Amino acid sequence: MVAQLIDGKRIAAQLRVRIGAAVNELQNKHHLIPGLAVILVGDDPASQVYVCNKAIATREVGITLLEYRLPDDISQAALLDKLRALNTAADVNAILVQFPVPEQISQQAVIDTIDTDKDVDGLHPANAGRLVSGLPALTPCTALGVVILARQTLGDLGGKHGVIIGRSNLVGKPVAQLLLRENCTVTMAHSHTQDLQGLCRRADILVAAVGIPEMVRGDWVKPGACVIDVGINHIPVPEKGAGKTRTRLVGDVAFDEVSAVAGHITPVPGGVGPMTIACLLRNTLTAICRQHGLPEIDF
Ligand code: NAP
Repeated sequence: MVAQLIDGKRIAAQLRVRIGAAVNELQNKHHLIPGLAVILVGDDPASQVYVCNKAIATREVGITLLEYRLPDDISQAALLDKLRALNTAADVNAILVQFPVPEQISQQAVIDTIDTDKDVDGLHPANAGRLVSGLPALTPCTALGVVILARQTLGDLGGKHGVIIGRSNLVGKPVAQLLLRENCTVTMAHSHTQDLQGLCRRADILVAAVGIPEMVRGDWVKPGACVIDVGINHIPVPEKGAGKTRTRLVGDVAFDEVSAVAGHITPVPGGVGPMTIACLLRNTLTAICRQHGLPEIDF
């Protein structure tokens, strides 16, 4: 079997077009323009790239971007004050703090301070609890992207066995909850799981969110399974010549081996990554609709 590629770039682009149209309609009908505040603390190069990509996509769909670049040595108190100000700012509907933050700042304190209605990353315990309870919640963007890809690829997910490797609050746990909502049977795996390989081989939908380059091998996958690779790993590649190295981006799945067995597979890059950004825009739209008592746009 040669797996069909799940084209996250294309699916995300389609989603962004629909979001752009919805933003237009919001402005024409209700005179509302969604505002997304993005905070970057320090000058971590990877975070700068992520924020830059988010900024481009945000502006493209007509959402107003308020970008705050704060110094590396900012105190926790000063950052939380900034967040409280954004919580009450009428032109800000959604707030995202790019993680990681420097070590003098508690990530949990940041998450806890963001207004739950503006918590566009869905990490606040209130939103996580609402998701588990089956209530409307802002949901972590990457997890939402994963499940949209699975739905677009397989249609109805009811009765399928989803195995998720990784149990972070950002990815693994919300993916599990969203798949449960889709009536999947869900198994979560983590670093203490026994016979991970055997478990993965029973998955109809296998989601890898671990952070270990190419961990999932071809013989871990059931023939025909749908494999969604969340991992982003930069591995060094030695270059011929004077001891130079460059890096290559790979996922948590050994793409060549697994695509010979799976039915569908996401590439890295071009799979889950673009969906994360599209879902950030979608969540911003959801946030403004909820804040103004408007019906949510169903994507
Ligand atoms: P994380 O918080 O570090 O969580 C990793 C999870 O993997 C943990 O639950 C850990 O288990 C589990 N794990 C570690 N080693 C394992 C092993 N040998 N066997 C089974 N499970 C193992 O990472 P994350 O934030 O969820 O991110 C995961 C990956 O997705 C990373 O590569 C990250 O860069 C990527 N990511 C991509 C996007 C995107 O937009 N594409 C967004 C977010 C993250 P324990 O809980 O037991 O430690």
